[in-house]
Amino acid sequence: MKVTRIAYSARLNPGKYAALVEQARRLGRVRSEVWQRYGSIAGVGSGLRDRRVRDRWLVEGVHLQFGVLANAWKETVRDAMADITASLEAAKVEVRRTINRRTSDPAERKRMFTALTANQWASDPFLARQMRQHWKRGKNGTHDQIVVRADKHNTIVDGRGRLWLAVPGLDRRKLVRIPLSTTVAPSGTLRLILRGGRVEVHYQIDASQMRSSQRPCGEATVGVDKGYTEALTDSDGVRHGCGLGELLTGESNRLKERNRRRAKLRSIANTAALRGDHAKAHRIKANNLGVMKRDRQAARHRALVRTEIFTAVHRVVDKAATVAAEDLTKTFAGHKALGRNINRRLAGWTKGVTAEALKSVSERRGSALVHVNAAYTSQACHRCGRLGRRSGDRFHCTRCRVVWQADVNAAINILHRAGDPDIALHTPHQKVKQILQDRTDRHRTRLPVQDSSPAPAERRANYPNRSAMSN
Ligand SMILES: [Zn+2]
Repeated sequence: MKVTRIAYSARLNPGKYAALVEQARRLGRVRSEVWQRYGSIAGVGSGLRDRRVRDRWLVEGVHLQFGVLANAWKETVRDAMADITASLEAAKVEVRRTINRRTSDPAERKRMFTALTANQWASDPFLARQMRQHWKRGKNGTHDQIVVRADKHNTIVDGRGRLWLAVPGLDRRKLVRIPLSTTVAPSGTLRLILRGGRVEVHYQIDASQMRSSQRPCGEATVGVDKGYTEALTDSDGVRHGCGLGELLTGESNRLKERNRRRAKLRSIANTAALRGDHAKAHRIKANNLGVMKRDRQAARHRALVRTEIFTAVHRVVDKAATVAAEDLTKTFAGHKALGRNINRRLAGWTKGVTAEALKSVSERRGSALVHVNAAYTSQACHRCGRLGRRSGDRFHCTRCRVVWQADVNAAINILHRAGDPDIALHTPHQKVKQILQDRTDRHRTRLPVQDSSPAPAERRANYPNRSAMSN
């Protein structure tokens, strides 16, 4: 398993940076060309490989217009084709869901899944229609990256112990030397991302080399519930990553304040420009509305949150051989709907990081990650199964007459779901509710009625439609 590492340039000469930016811009045109020509059903959708594209371009002379070295455009073609393939595969995930909804016949399902995997969906009218619907034609948005093949770069350490990375520039005979702020030499294929006057060197290392991967996992089976104040709460009642809430609230407040200030400055600059005071407008834009500091602060915040979440997951895996959790990648669908709301955007992103951490740490340390259906896990009592209400961090069960800590209650429910014979990962929401209600009903007929407040539950059971609306 691979993990991504990032090295940063340190005090890079602006002239060198500008040359790299120009190279990345030209390679961005290569990417656009690839998306334009092959980002469709007839291109990557038909199983076209990047090697074929390279051969074709060499014959037709397509590459001549870009003004970059051969290796640079070839690697970029490969990278762009991989991007297109990734977008295609993402669409297939959606289409697999529609196949499951369309038919329950195992043979028919298998036939469609196989056609989808082998990129032979174009001949099947249903699959072709679904793919067209879910695979929207994309276009390239990347103009700031350079991919460097493993044998095209090298590093040296200078007399003062500083590490320099040499990569090809636009000129065949001259390498561009980039001073790095680390002493660990990047290896393998590099992705240089040019951001805010600084070069980010992304590369992958084998996870087994990492110290944290050598720690074995624990022996228990643990359920976890993701939170906002803390990264995770486990079914033993322990909270992990308790600094998360403070980090997110701090960032959210900082962003709101900064956006407010920037809006004000922007309006001052616009007013000045209207008045004809272009010098002032320019001064504000250059000195106060730049993106360099903003982007670096954002990167620093992202790194802090990632550390908090990964550390939390490590703490769980310290004791767990099996971790039961909600599939947090699934809820990622409504990306656009999040809009400008800072808190929701941060929460959505945090969820993605938690999902990544659970998967990556489990794989590296050898614990099993079991995704469970999390429907109603925060609204049911873990002891008796009755649906109740969560208010803030408390969950009150009217049958047990106990107030649970809501996140611990949810984590225990998630743990139970891992071994639930009736509720599978993809059991629909409504059906989960029905199963839970049937269970408590069965429970009730077995026991003498001693509950003083059964009314709400009975109403729900008698009028399922109304309860669906109120949820
Ligand atoms: Zn209960």
